[in-house]
Amino acid sequence: MKRGRDGTVAAIRWFDLPTRRANDMNKRGHVLNGLLLALGLGFVLEPGVDAATARAIAEITVPVVLGALFPDVDTAFGRHRKTLHSLPVLAVFLAYPIVFGNLQYVWIGVLTHYILDVVGSRRGIALFHPLSDKEYSLPTGVTTSSKYADLVTVIITAVEIAALWAIHTYVVNLNLDLSAAAQTASEAAAGFGI
Ligand SMILES: [Zn+2]
Repeated sequence: MKRGRDGTVAAIRWFDLPTRRANDMNKRGHVLNGLLLALGLGFVLEPGVDAATARAIAEITVPVVLGALFPDVDTAFGRHRKTLHSLPVLAVFLAYPIVFGNLQYVWIGVLTHYILDVVGSRRGIALFHPLSDKEYSLPTGVTTSSKYADLVTVIITAVEIAALWAIHTYVVNLNLDLSAAAQTASEAAAGFGI
C-alpha cells in the first residue's frame, strides 16, 4: 500500500515535470537577465573596478531583479502576459521615482522583463492592455522551456548592456534614477524662474 502510494506520487511528479520545468526556466531566465543587466549597468554607470562600481551594482541589483520578477505575478492575478505586461504598468513604475521618490530602478527590471518576453520567447505580450488584448512578439523567440533559453537570455542581456553603454557614451549621460533627474529638472526650472 505504502509502495503503491509512493509510486503514484512519483508518477504525478514525473507527469508534471515538463510544466514545472517550463515555469522554472522562465523565472530563472528573468532573474538571470535582471542580475546580469544590473551587473553590466553598474560598470556602464561607474566604469572601473572600485568602490563606486560596487556601490552602483549593489544599489541597482535588488530593485532591477524585483522589477524583472513582477510582471509574471499576473499568472496568479489577472491574465498572464496581459494584465501586468503592458505599457501602462511600465508607466506606473516610471512614475514612482518621479512623483514619490521611491522604487528607483524597479522600472528597468519591468522593462527588461517585457523585452525578454517579446524577443526571447514565442508568445508575445499585450503592450496596450487593457485597451487591446493583442499580443506583440518578434519571430526571434525560442520557447521558454527550450534548452537554448538561458543562452538566448544571456545574448539578449548582452545586447541590452551594449545598447545602454553606447547611449551612455555617445548620446546622453544616463541617469537612471529618475527621482534625481526629476529633482534636477525642477531645480533647473526654478533657476530659470519657471
Ligand atoms: Zn512575463
